[in-house]
Amino acid sequence: SPPGERYEYQAEVSRLMDLIVNSLYSNKEVFLRELISNASDALDKLRFLSVTEPGLLKDAVDFDIRIQADTDNGIITITDTGIGMTRQELVDCLGTIAQSGTAKFLKALKDSKDAGGDNNLIGQFGVGFYSAFLVADRVVVSTKSPKSDKQYVWEGEANASSYTVCEETNPEKLIPRGTRLTLYLKRDDKGFAHPERIQKLVKNYSQFVSFPIYTWQEKGFTKEVEVDEDPAEAKKDDQDEKTEKKKKTKTVVERYWDWELTNETQPIWLRNPKEVTKEEYNEFYKKTFNEYLEPLASSHFTTEGEVEFRSILYVPAFAPSGKDDIINPKTKNIRLYVKRVFISDDFDGELFPRYLSFVKGVVDSNDLPLNVSREILQESRIVRIMRKRLVRKAFDMILGISMSENREDYEKFWENFGKHLKLGCIEDRENHKRIAPLLRFVSSQSDEELISLDEYVENMKPDQKDIYYIAADSVTSAKNTPFLERLAEKDIEVLFLVDPIDEVAIQNLKSYKEKNFVDISKEDLDLGDKNEEREKEMKQEFGQTCDWIKKRLGDKVASVQISNRLSSSPCVLASGKFGWSANMERLMKAQTM
Ligand code: ADP
Ligand code: MG
Repeated sequence: SPPGERYEYQAEVSRLMDLIVNSLYSNKEVFLRELISNASDALDKLRFLSVTEPGLLKDAVDFDIRIQADTDNGIITITDTGIGMTRQELVDCLGTIAQSGTAKFLKALKDSKDAGGDNNLIGQFGVGFYSAFLVADRVVVSTKSPKSDKQYVWEGEANASSYTVCEETNPEKLIPRGTRLTLYLKRDDKGFAHPERIQKLVKNYSQFVSFPIYTWQEKGFTKEVEVDEDPAEAKKDDQDEKTEKKKKTKTVVERYWDWELTNETQPIWLRNPKEVTKEEYNEFYKKTFNEYLEPLASSHFTTEGEVEFRSILYVPAFAPSGKDDIINPKTKNIRLYVKRVFISDDFDGELFPRYLSFVKGVVDSNDLPLNVSREILQESRIVRIMRKRLVRKAFDMILGISMSENREDYEKFWENFGKHLKLGCIEDRENHKRIAPLLRFVSSQSDEELISLDEYVENMKPDQKDIYYIAADSVTSAKNTPFLERLAEKDIEVLFLVDPIDEVAIQNLKSYKEKNFVDISKEDLDLGDKNEEREKEMKQEFGQTCDWIKKRLGDKVASVQISNRLSSSPCVLASGKFGWSANMERLMKAQTM
């Protein structure tokens, strides 16, 4: 074949290939999972585009993936009938790393190195196309995009710093569309080129791929064939039984090769929830979202009535690390299908409000049009109903974690996603009733453990009407505030709001189970033990002192008053009834700086 045009890899790619090969050495077989997942992505892309551009399907071949192992020569070919790549795409996609899976891998590798290194985790990451070089020393990608009338061949070798691209000239190798990968296995890895081995790997790693995967398998059927009688036998028969000479048959196995469907193509969400095991849900989660940890919870449901859809939702075990004070609604966490066709995972609050954007899952609807666009999504009544139901289900799932016998689960949830729920108090009035029972706080009596509002309410004094809180910048400073004295004396519990967002969240909630939230640092705090007589006396006795102090302090304070709020401290700085709390003031100051 003519020499192709030679290109250098982007510098990071060579380094990445090295890393992949070295860190995944013990888990080489992931290469097949990666290449099948690329084939499946390519089929998804084509199926999606063809909804609006049926012309793309020109030579209407099926949507499938075929894998053939040539044992004698140690070659594996993986062919898909997906979207393929143009010449430019070949260079952009296979010569640079801008792609999700690989970027995530590099980050995971770095994180795990920083954390002391656990190579096992790495093996479970999406590492993408380059994983082909785990087992192959030469990889040829022959691909035809419907956007181009030519087919192109990319060719690369392990440990090389460059690759070539040329046009496919061999007419026998032309394909109507899609991509064929040919892996020339390394000497020690030729064992992968066995039909049974391939079959096992497909079943093991790719059972959730929603396109048929065929593997090239040797088959056999038995048949009866007539045989000429052995003259010696015949003679013996004649002597012993003197029977008539008859035709004899024998059973033989006829061998042939054919494609065999190797995966289960029914998507897991279409199955009956009663027949799906927890392990299967978790596997689906890990494979679909490239996660290496099990989710904290999952929920599989079908809704009926006005709008019908099926869904599996998950709560991840961890919030994505990084800029942790910014909640990013564009997470690719929800995969939307319409009649099993993958439509999009690119949402911006259409299916879940931003504060619940950590929820992952798949949603499959029969009621949306296949060519659903962003505009349709934003305006559709159906989507609004779906969103409502999804949000409700997500809350049920989180509530489930909070009621789990294993208290640690919810602690983990809260640590990762507590601030999301607090944001929900501010942004989603409609769901206050669902969010409030999920909130957790430290209190003056909880000994630094987190408690729920229900636990607080249960612990209220018989005549206590309100829920008390104090906002502070730490548990220690909350504990030491003089405002606590009287409440402590009366054994009344006080919530400590020590996260900057806590106070705003609580103020948005206003009340819980008809009990108002009351800031104990505000001037009009009424603990229901007013003694008017005595207050009058005190005012008379100390009125002049107050006037004197107010004069000395001038504008620094709004007023100086006698109060019954303290028991051991002589005085305290309190906020006005309608003013900001000291904590809010601190926050506002920090923001304007
Ligand atoms: P990722 O799948 O995370 O994007 P990969 O390294 O696996 O990263 O793949 C890189 C890119 O190469 C893909 O995003 C896709 O554009 C392209 N690609 C890989 N395999 C195929 C294929 N079989 N058909 C079409 N495009 C492909
Ligand atoms: Mg990939």
